[in-house]
Amino acid sequence: MSGHVREFSAVILGAGGVGKSALTLRFMKGYFHEAYDPTIEETYRRTITLDDEASRLEVLDTAGTEQFVALNDLYIKAGRGFILAFSLTDQSTLKEIESLREQILRLKGDRVPIVVVGTKSDLPEERQVDREQMMQISLGWGVPIYETSAKKNWHVKDAFDDLLRQMRMRYPVQ
Ligand code: GDP
Ligand code: MG
Repeated sequence: MSGHVREFSAVILGAGGVGKSALTLRFMKGYFHEAYDPTIEETYRRTITLDDEASRLEVLDTAGTEQFVALNDLYIKAGRGFILAFSLTDQSTLKEIESLREQILRLKGDRVPIVVVGTKSDLPEERQVDREQMMQISLGWGVPIYETSAKKNWHVKDAFDDLLRQMRMRYPVQ
C-alpha cells in the first residue's frame, strides 16, 4: 500500500427533490436528513479505504440548477466522476439525467466515470420506474445502475464505491 493518498472529486447531479442531498449525507456523514434545505450546495470530503487503498473523496452536492445549463457546465468541468440521480418514484426525473449525461459526454468525452442511481427504493408502492427500464438504461449507456435508499441505507455505499473504483482506473497514478 503506497503512502500517497490520491484525491478524486465527484459531482452528484439530478432533478430537484430526487434525494441528492440525502444520498450524499448518508454516505459522507452517515445519517439520513429528512428535510434538507433544497437550495444548499455543499462540498463534502472524506477519506475512504477501499480495496486496501485510501483515497480522499470530494463530493459536490448540487442544488436546484436544472435550468442553468451554464452552471452545470462548470460543475461538470470540475468533476472527475458523476453520480446521476433520479427517483424511482418519479418517471419524469429520468429526462433530467438523460440531458445531463449528454452534457457530460460533450464536455468530458465518453470514458468518464459515471454511476446512475435510482433513489427512494424504500417506497415500492410509489414506484414508477421498473427493473426492465433500469436494465435498458444500464445496457444502453454502458453504465452501472443502483437502486438505493438513503433513508434505509440500501446500496448507497455500493454506488459510491463503484464510482471511486471507476475514477481510480480512469485516472491512474502517473
Ligand atoms: P435533492 O433536492 O435532490 O437534494 O433531494 P433531497 O435530498 O433534499 O430529498 C428530497 C425529499 O426526498 C426529502 O423530503 C427527503 O426526505 C426525501 N428522500 C430523500 N431520499 C429518500 C429515501 O431514500 N427514501 C425516502 N422515503 N425519502 C427520501
Ligand atoms: Mg439537495
